[in-house]
Amino acid sequence: MSYKNFETIAIRIQAERSEHKEHSVPLYMTSSYKFDDADDMRALFANEKDGNIYSRYSNPNVTELIDKMAALEGAEAGWATSTGMAAIFTALAALLGSGDHVVSSRSVFGSTHQLLNGIFPKWGIDYTYADLDKPEDWEKAIKANTKLLFVETPSNPGIDIIDLKWLSELAKSRGVLLIVDNCFATPYLQQPIALGADLSIHSATKFIDGQGRCLGGVILGNKELILKIEAFARHSGPAMSPFNAWLLSKSLETLAVRMDRHCENAIKVAEYLENQAGIKAVKYPFLASHPQYEIAKRQMKQGGGIVTLVLKDSAAAVKFMNGLKMFSISANLGDTRSIVTHPATSTHSKLSEMERLQVGIEQGTVRLSIGLENINDILEDLKNALG
Ligand SMILES: *Cc1c(COP(=O)(O)O)cnc(C)c1O
Repeated sequence: MSYKNFETIAIRIQAERSEHKEHSVPLYMTSSYKFDDADDMRALFANEKDGNIYSRYSNPNVTELIDKMAALEGAEAGWATSTGMAAIFTALAALLGSGDHVVSSRSVFGSTHQLLNGIFPKWGIDYTYADLDKPEDWEKAIKANTKLLFVETPSNPGIDIIDLKWLSELAKSRGVLLIVDNCFATPYLQQPIALGADLSIHSATKFIDGQGRCLGGVILGNKELILKIEAFARHSGPAMSPFNAWLLSKSLETLAVRMDRHCENAIKVAEYLENQAGIKAVKYPFLASHPQYEIAKRQMKQGGGIVTLVLKDSAAAVKFMNGLKMFSISANLGDTRSIVTHPATSTHSKLSEMERLQVGIEQGTVRLSIGLENINDILEDLKNALG
């Protein structure tokens, strides 16, 4: 049976039941698989038959997670990796070669910046940054050797947004690929492939696990691109562990209800903060004051779980963070527990002050990941800290 609705797909796509008829899928902790006979082994290695050979290539728990994620985003195929960064590295390394060029949004995750800026140049792969709020810069940045556009929307922690439909049309008209880091939105809030992207990449560590327990990454796209990625990943070895795949697949069963509550809590926090004295700015996709509010409304189902605010200066940010009693000071996001981070001295501390300002991070910028605690307790903690 094939299902159409998000919540049902997330629950009902399951690995085949074993002879034990277990209701919930078991954990397949195995490094390899047994062949029926010598010819069976030969046929599997020769790609004449589908089946598991070795868990660096495939595993029932990992396949279940990939099948679910692909169905949730309307992608033909997918590949899972040990972390979100392994997903980004694997996708780029599989598709790029020496002499190629990438156009990327300037406000990318810190480690993605390190890949583009420090690691890929070793292999002669160059990049240009473009800003999400300046679409014309993307058109200008594409060169003859540009292979792909890489974008994070909404961005971290600036919460800037770009029109994915427009960007995918630009990519197609110039013959380059579009890759979207869809971590902040999850497949529930935004489906880049339906908007024309070639690959959608997730750090499953964040909202997909949603409980701050394990790391994981997923790459989704058409069969042709995923086969190229598979050819690279099978031999370079960034495989997701069966245990993490099992956890993440279970977590997907509740993604829709969790995201609904993250978003419901986050918009209340954003609206509350917008009306408080001493706050220079509040950024949230579904606040009417957001510069790309119209685009957000069009391409996202809801605004997500992250709210960014700007206080007067670094001292005000530190005082506010230390004043929070319930929020955890942590580098993660997308957890059941509300989390506060000061990007300038943590996730983005390796950038120069100038680079930080270019991606909208001031000394007073604070990122909130709104959890699933009772909204009254979340608001009270914020109120006391601001007081
Ligand atoms: C966390 C994160 C990553 C990296 O994911 P890991 O699972 O930590 O490797 C990539 N992109 C974004 C937007 C993230 O928030």
